[in-house]
Amino acid sequence: MAFGRRNVEEVVTEETKIWECTSEDCICWVRDNFKSSDVPTCPLCDSPMNPSTKVLPVVENHSRHHLK
Ligand SMILES: [Zn+2]
Repeated sequence: MAFGRRNVEEVVTEETKIWECTSEDCICWVRDNFKSSDVPTCPLCDSPMNPSTKVLPVVENHSRHHLK
């Protein structure tokens, strides 16, 4: 058991704003910064989308590093 070692990269997650498809048959959602317009419609089924949040892994971006 190598519990002292920290060679596993920590996955940083963050509550991210997303848009969820309102159709019950559809599981599509998009990140807010990937949305196509201010009030996006689902790219799969064209239904309206509701703003929501999801805890997602943060994609590390070295040019925009912020610490909490
Ligand atoms: Zn949809």
